[in-house]
Amino acid sequence: MSATLEEQATAAPRTGGYPVIRMLIGGEWIKAPGAPILDPATGDAIGTVPHATPGHLESAAAAAARGFAVWRRTAPAERARIMLRAVQLVRERVETIAMDITLEQGKPVAQSRAEVLRGCDLIEWDATEARRVYGRVIPAEPGMRHTVLREPVGVVAAFTPWNFPMSSPARKIGGALAAGCAIILKASEETPAGAMHLARAFCDAGLPAGALNLVFGDPAAISGFLIPHPVVRLVTFTGSTVVGKQLAGLAGTHMKPVIMELGGHAPVIVCDDADPQVAAAAGVQAKLNNGGQVCVAPTRFIVHKAVYEAFVQAYAQIGRTVRQGSGLDPHSDIGPVANARRLQSLQRLTDDAVRRGARVLCGGVPRADAGFHFPFTALADVPTDALAMREEPFGPLSLITRADSIEDAIALANSLPYGLAGYAFTESARNARLLSDELEVGNLAINHFVSAVSETPFGGVKDSGYGREGGTEGLECYTHAKSVSHLTS
Ligand code: NAD
Repeated sequence: MSATLEEQATAAPRTGGYPVIRMLIGGEWIKAPGAPILDPATGDAIGTVPHATPGHLESAAAAAARGFAVWRRTAPAERARIMLRAVQLVRERVETIAMDITLEQGKPVAQSRAEVLRGCDLIEWDATEARRVYGRVIPAEPGMRHTVLREPVGVVAAFTPWNFPMSSPARKIGGALAAGCAIILKASEETPAGAMHLARAFCDAGLPAGALNLVFGDPAAISGFLIPHPVVRLVTFTGSTVVGKQLAGLAGTHMKPVIMELGGHAPVIVCDDADPQVAAAAGVQAKLNNGGQVCVAPTRFIVHKAVYEAFVQAYAQIGRTVRQGSGLDPHSDIGPVANARRLQSLQRLTDDAVRRGARVLCGGVPRADAGFHFPFTALADVPTDALAMREEPFGPLSLITRADSIEDAIALANSLPYGLAGYAFTESARNARLLSDELEVGNLAINHFVSAVSETPFGGVKDSGYGREGGTEGLECYTHAKSVSHLTS
């Protein structure tokens, strides 16, 4: 059923403090029965997310095919203009969107605001880069012209998770639309408002109907429908490695290329020449981002024995000052974790590590009140056989362990199947060179914790996935190369 005319208007309709969630199919806002959305700070229902039927999904595929026919023939400068207008609208609506993200996802409002603005920056970069998707002319014998055209791959099926309700959709929508593709986005059912606000801004900016479609529902049913669908030509997924492998397998069966941005278990190597206070302060600060529910969150602090005790002391001291509470409280450094699954998983991993001999520096015991509250927790002397040293904690849990040498630290860092982000602290050019050469990661940051910006490619190696988002490499993933060889005389 499509929404009323008022609901098609600019502002998202609201009940209470949270927007009414709709799907977007072929330019129409669609209602459907669905499931409750919970506020992680209280555990209370704040809204309902509609669930797509197979009929909705078939309509979305048909709409995307029509949208692609229009959008691929839209001049790149016009594409950029519409995308930049959408970004401007999101910036104007930043306070409303940030509040809705905090309600559905839990992070402090300041972090939600930063996420929205980061999403704007990602789309802005893609929009301006849309005008520079260059092909090549290859030197050939007289009378022959070899050219390589970069063409949009077609309709993209995209799947985004609950940890970044706005910036994760922004990455995929920005890349796809900049390249001239149409997109069907299945955003998270647990945090649907961020993606809906973004889709609304694109509609209001004049994006042709069908170029962007937004659906929610049973994740397995939707991916099982869309990935094999003949209209879909590319699959992009951000989420867990387990699900990523299933979707990549399905896409492979249907010969569809994939971009997989999966889990991580980021090592932070603190070398003997680094300042342990500086590294610890930056580490705690980085771990506050989204309460550690980030695939690039610093997780295994592998610290050289020469600076180990100083690092542990500094990390404990700063970690004990972290304030955990509602994301609506401006004094909270971290909010609740996003759902009950995370709470249970963090408790299980913490208890297991402590049972195996880890030392609790701070946190470890969740608050007993309603909602999904887990404190900022740091453990030292974590043995390598602790489950948390292999499983992604995906929450505010820091693990600190000692290394005898940089070579041992690198070996430990590389010992997991993950390879997304890595971090290191050193003033030595030799160490920096060794770390750059030997760490098996897609993104390495030395002496800071920003693993990617809009201009740089972001993605993993090994079980952390393949394909890139951001940078020219990211945009290229949404195109294919067509070689045209022309004998002119
Ligand atoms: P999960 O594996 O159940 O789901 C991860 C995401 O995949 C969710 O958004 C979910 O809706 C989606 N999903 C699940 N099955 C799907 C299917 N068959 N088709 C399409 N989408 C599907 O895990 P979870 O409990 O939501 O999160 C647990 C783990 O997932 C975390 O510990 C973390 O390792 C990983 N994760 C990674 C990221 C990331 O940014 N790379 C984001 C969220 C979660």
